[in-house]
Amino acid sequence: MCHTLTTCTFCGVGCGLYLETEGDRVVGVVPCREHPSSAGRLCVRGWHVHEVAGSPERLRAPRIREGTTWREAGWDEALDCVAGRFRSIRDRYGPEAIAFLNSPRSSNEEAYLLQKLARAVIGTPHVDHGAGVYGHHSVEVLLDQLGVAAATGVLADLNRSDVLLVDGVDLARQLPTLAGTVLRARLAGATLLVVDARRHRVAESADVFLQVRPGTSAILYGAMARVIVDRGLQNRDFLAGRVRDVPSFLDAVRTYDLLEAAERCGLPARTIEAAAIAWARARAGAAMYSTADAARTGESVAALVNLVLLCGQVGRPGAGLYPLAEHNNLQGVCDVGMLPDRLPGYRAVADAGARAEVEAVWGAPVPDRAGASARDILAGGHPEIRALWLGRYDPVSTAFAGGAERTLKGMEFVAMQHLFWSGAAELAHVVLPTTAFGEETVTFTSTDRRIQRVRQAVPALPGLEPAWRQIVSLAGRLGASWAYGDEEEVWREIGRVVPAYRGACQERLDAGYGCPWPCTDEHPRGTDVLYEEARGCGGGSDGETGREGLEGGGGDHGRPFRMRAMACPEDEPADGAYPFTLIFGDSLYYWHRNVLVRHSETLQREYRMLLLDYPDGFVEMHGDDAASIGVRDGGRIRLCSEHGCAVTTARVTEEVRRGSVHVPYFLREVEEAILGPRAGTARLLPVRISKEGA
Ligand code: SF4
Repeated sequence: MCHTLTTCTFCGVGCGLYLETEGDRVVGVVPCREHPSSAGRLCVRGWHVHEVAGSPERLRAPRIREGTTWREAGWDEALDCVAGRFRSIRDRYGPEAIAFLNSPRSSNEEAYLLQKLARAVIGTPHVDHGAGVYGHHSVEVLLDQLGVAAATGVLADLNRSDVLLVDGVDLARQLPTLAGTVLRARLAGATLLVVDARRHRVAESADVFLQVRPGTSAILYGAMARVIVDRGLQNRDFLAGRVRDVPSFLDAVRTYDLLEAAERCGLPARTIEAAAIAWARARAGAAMYSTADAARTGESVAALVNLVLLCGQVGRPGAGLYPLAEHNNLQGVCDVGMLPDRLPGYRAVADAGARAEVEAVWGAPVPDRAGASARDILAGGHPEIRALWLGRYDPVSTAFAGGAERTLKGMEFVAMQHLFWSGAAELAHVVLPTTAFGEETVTFTSTDRRIQRVRQAVPALPGLEPAWRQIVSLAGRLGASWAYGDEEEVWREIGRVVPAYRGACQERLDAGYGCPWPCTDEHPRGTDVLYEEARGCGGGSDGETGREGLEGGGGDHGRPFRMRAMACPEDEPADGAYPFTLIFGDSLYYWHRNVLVRHSETLQREYRMLLLDYPDGFVEMHGDDAASIGVRDGGRIRLCSEHGCAVTTARVTEEVRRGSVHVPYFLREVEEAILGPRAGTARLLPVRISKEGA
């Protein structure tokens, strides 16, 4: 029996585990006790992650569509076909007729080469990752206010936080070992604040649970800031020494009235007050939020960043802002440039100097304008895009992106890389199988910036290559002369264009359990705490702090952070005809549709349990709301918006707030029926509900 240390590739925590192998087979998983983030704990997905690779349903050879049928093909024929179709479409319509999307589960090497192929070989600006259907608000806001689109601390330090704020994420379902970390911190004496429209497992343990009306968290944070400022609890030294635009922020804060905000958020004013005072008095406060929350807006992220800065909760172990990635390499694919408006290292596409640096490494020009987002492309907003590459990404089955199926059907050409046949594969023209977890050595970057190796433990299936090698082969067929001998050569090039990765050589990654970036020669084990006070970040050079390349464009090294002034938004009068707020795309029910989970027998059983009671799917509503229209659990209801109506099944649960209805993203027919052409773009919608047949 052999044991290979590796990283779980399901969610952003990136737990450490050993793959147990016998001969060429993975036979089990053993948790890694020393791993700093997971400390010997795994959730059900981590324990069974190896089952995916062993599925008999793995694709073993490329397939090419011929009319309505498919046939297997050799690698040369399949890759020639993809290259030929891309070349022909580029010649006829220009490079911008082709877009490249990949999964936030792709490795750093794969994502880096894919965006390089798109920008430098094809010449298109259209690159994005699948989680872009949720998360771009977060990247832009964080770059603007913090100068870095990432967590400012590491997960391992959360046991040093004395106040933990968890916003819009059911940790126990989405990032389970992190839920354990938070609950253990709470048991050890930390104060737990939870902001969510849902009452979930972690919310049950909160000291203060703020069950907000969906879409009002920005107002909540504005009101909390007002309480803090009125009581003089803000961190004046931190604001004076390290934060810009404070006066305009303070002016805006005065537009929030506690009682009015409480009314709009649907919370008692004293609960908001209690949360604000607890946060302001924290010695080390950590604020976590989900980048995949369906109701998340840019304003809600900015308001939370304001609250973190107002109390100086950055730069100490246990303090900080934690944007949580529910997909395991969402952080990494963004870091290496799989964003429509950012080059590797988050430098703006529009920045001529940044482009010149990347062009010098790539030896090819880079498009100077931002591309379209995955959300807009998949929702059908760019008919000029006629060909798509989907890297391990199935937008038809797994993402909240209404209209994806229709968009794919309208494409002239779709190429897809994946382990399995899936909904999007049915609509593709060429499907390329690739290697699975445990069959390749690559890197991932977890939600706390920890760059980790995912190691090969068994040989790949005969004939299969890592996805990054397929991208290299395709680039060669399209005229590029890339000469990467192995994944380490790709990795070294990434270090040349992503400054924060520069010192993360493979030896350093292997020496411990990865490195949180920035990793530099001065900080060869990486950087746990960004902007650390002890390192003199307030006036230190880039070399001292490892912040090279992390500035958001303000260039004010003395005061790296920026407040965003946001006056209290006008109250929109409620429409009495549509008294409920409907939330689309609840990512809680993501996992049972995940293509990988569907190919693990154990995980399939685990995640489909709920659907045994609701075989046709469900929408969730509170018991009081259900009683008011005379509906019981499992009863049929009619949902109507001003655009249309849909009939579906009610799941009656006290988890959701009165007055709100949660629709899992996979109920596409509900989404399309009541949104029509806006499907895939709206997140919150006023609706009315009635008992079907009443
Ligand atoms: Fe894997 Fe996330 Fe579960 Fe850890 S918490 S074992 S990374 S799915």
